[in-house]
Amino acid sequence: MTFIMLIKSVGLMGETFQLSFAVFCPACNESYNYKVFIDKEKYRLLQEKEVGGVVSFFFDHRSHLLEVSLNGKGDVVEVKAVPWMQAPEGVTVWRRETPYFPVLSSSFDALFINRRRRVYCDVNWRDDALSFIPLAEGGRTAKYIVDGREYWVLAHGDNVVVVKRSELWRDEVFNRLAVLVREFRGSNVSADPAFQRIFLSVLEASADDPYIALDATRLVGDLGKTVSINLDLVMLSPVPFGGELVELLSSVDYEAAVDFLVLSASGIREMVKLLKTYRLLKNLNIIKVVE
Ligand SMILES: [Zn+2]
Repeated sequence: MTFIMLIKSVGLMGETFQLSFAVFCPACNESYNYKVFIDKEKYRLLQEKEVGGVVSFFFDHRSHLLEVSLNGKGDVVEVKAVPWMQAPEGVTVWRRETPYFPVLSSSFDALFINRRRRVYCDVNWRDDALSFIPLAEGGRTAKYIVDGREYWVLAHGDNVVVVKRSELWRDEVFNRLAVLVREFRGSNVSADPAFQRIFLSVLEASADDPYIALDATRLVGDLGKTVSINLDLVMLSPVPFGGELVELLSSVDYEAAVDFLVLSASGIREMVKLLKTYRLLKNLNIIKVVE
């Protein structure tokens, strides 16, 4: 049985449609309940398919793919287990990225996605990631209401971050987070531990400081670069930087990759301190970009 339902449409918010279906996989010999959220544009495409036409969704079952075909009314018309070798051309399945560097654990939900590589990192995502990825497929920055909760989709090129909005955040945090994602110049946000660290720290601090995302754009803009650190200037500085930050700056070499500096911060507190003072540290020449 299939349901297509309009979840909610509010002013600037994007409309989301939920497709849910129960299917039986002949290869696993097991039943699955799938639930995917799609935006209005994709829903319209499904509706526009000619009579008799079908739309297929593919699910990764590890040893094989499950192909579920739906007609324009949303009824399941065919279910097939397909060996990977016989996967139709152009069909790619979303794969979970395994982070090589421990991801900061956050109390907020963020899903990091790269559309071209079809990969995602859901370490800090408590919902079912595959249900929400369709919202990111169009590559548009938008707000969606799903099951009464607000979700922010922040897109730039192939990279997308989906965030479950916290009631503690003001509305303008949305635009600032969108700017922060646009500042990311790396190739794949789902496998970039430095960007993820910065982004998650920003989420943690955004309730107390709605401008923290703007501070963070400076650091994100420098990812991939190397900086030199002049510790003598820290000691001479009239600004008291605090022991934690001095400890962080002295824990890396005189010349360090900005990514390494970010990954050297021991936790959220230290990260937030770095985000808030990064601009000042550069203005005082304590940190200088060398390449
Ligand atoms: Zn299966």
